[in-house]
Amino acid sequence: MSENDCLFCKIVQGEVPAEIVREGERTVAFRDINPQAPTHVLVIPREHHPDAASAAAAGTGLVDEVTREAHEVAKAEGVDGTGYRLVFNTGSGAGQTVFHLHAHVLGGRGLNWPPG
Ligand code: C5P
Repeated sequence: MSENDCLFCKIVQGEVPAEIVREGERTVAFRDINPQAPTHVLVIPREHHPDAASAAAAGTGLVDEVTREAHEVAKAEGVDGTGYRLVFNTGSGAGQTVFHLHAHVLGGRGLNWPPG
């Protein structure tokens, strides 16, 4: 999928609505439209990268930055103390449906392992 067709690029550009909870110079965090836990926030870079592996390979530092921002979101949501899950679905076989790097921040309930 090209950047022009990318749903999360459209959220960054304000063309698709989202409930934004935190913005950084290079990142945006917004509530997942279909939450799987009381806290379910997506943290994305403003720049388009299809997944975490490709952003890491490009040497952007964005995976670190997304991870740091995810922890700030967890603190703001009050789930850092009990623990939260940070998920980078990578590839359609792992459930990735939007091919713009995003970290799921999930918390506020007990989370089982292994995940489904
Ligand atoms: O990891 P995956 O690619 O499956 O995650 C994409 C996530 O984006 C889904 O959890 C979906 O609910 C969310 N989404 C959203 N807002 C949209 C479209 C999808 O929060 N407009």
